[in-house]
Amino acid sequence: MPSTPAPSTSATSRRSFLARGAALAAVPTIATLVGGALAEPALADPLPDYAPVPPSALGPAVNAQGYFVGRVKKNLYWVTDGAYQAAFLTTRDGVVLFDAPPSVGRNLQRAIDQIASANGVSNKVTHIVYSHHHADHLGASSLFGRDVVRVGHIETKRLLARDNDPARPVPDLTFETHLTLRVGGERIDLAWHGTNHTPDNSYIHFPDHDTLMLVDINLPGWVPFDSFNISEDVPGSIAAPAKALAYPWKHFIGGHMGRLGTREDMVVYQQYVADLIDNIKKALVTVDPTPFFTKYGNNTWAAVKTYQAAQVDYAAAPVIQKYTGVLAAADVYTASTAFLILESIRLDLGFGSQIHP
Ligand SMILES: [Zn+2]
Repeated sequence: MPSTPAPSTSATSRRSFLARGAALAAVPTIATLVGGALAEPALADPLPDYAPVPPSALGPAVNAQGYFVGRVKKNLYWVTDGAYQAAFLTTRDGVVLFDAPPSVGRNLQRAIDQIASANGVSNKVTHIVYSHHHADHLGASSLFGRDVVRVGHIETKRLLARDNDPARPVPDLTFETHLTLRVGGERIDLAWHGTNHTPDNSYIHFPDHDTLMLVDINLPGWVPFDSFNISEDVPGSIAAPAKALAYPWKHFIGGHMGRLGTREDMVVYQQYVADLIDNIKKALVTVDPTPFFTKYGNNTWAAVKTYQAAQVDYAAAPVIQKYTGVLAAADVYTASTAFLILESIRLDLGFGSQIHP
């Protein structure tokens, strides 16, 4: 028998391949979120199903060019591609841009042009304020050339000098704890309140616009990205929402996903983290290690891995149940965040640590 596949099968495979390619081409920002080139998935991959995204997690639709720009308050605006957010302030002396995510890229200037021409103000970016050093929030900075004042924390400058990425020029103007930036009659208060997501992550307060920008802590409407937004300092990240709430503001720019946040979003997020901590502490004293160490004998890592996986499942399950329908993707990333917080409770706080008798 000839082994050539039947023409109908071949045509079906080709159609599904093309549909797959088109679907992938439509979501470049999501690929950017995870930093990867688009690999063709294996056709037989059984992908898991997840709970639907609650409508409350979604923001306005993006335009044909892939962005949405809207007013936060007065002359403060925000731009999103649905996954990343930047902001800008129009002033009588030009535009101050806050972050430059590469996924929004050249749409940043398009959004600024759109607002500036509608309001008859300058579209020239004179300053870029950096929230923190990460490339996914700053990688379009170099698009604005050399003739721009870049502002950031002193540690942002150190980390960018280390990383030596031409897409992210180092800040020209730095601060250690506080800096009030005045441009064209506008005031922006920058502050560093300790390490959290990264060592340099800064609080950007707009006192005359009732707005706080704090990136990669609370992503309004959504649970954190993998492993507590890949937090570099878990106790610092846990403390950040209270520090954010200590400022006066009504509008929150979290740097991610498709909508702005409110104080209520920050409180819900804070409660989500508190619920995780409570359940992790229960897991640490409840899950019995005996069966794991009995089964794996001298393979200590196999015992530890499966024991901790059981602790994570124990802690995450009630939190996933409580927040499904409240925070998008609770069933996607709660377990990885629970693991990182579990390790911090064990290693930073010493919870459950016992001295051999
Ligand atoms: Zn980051």
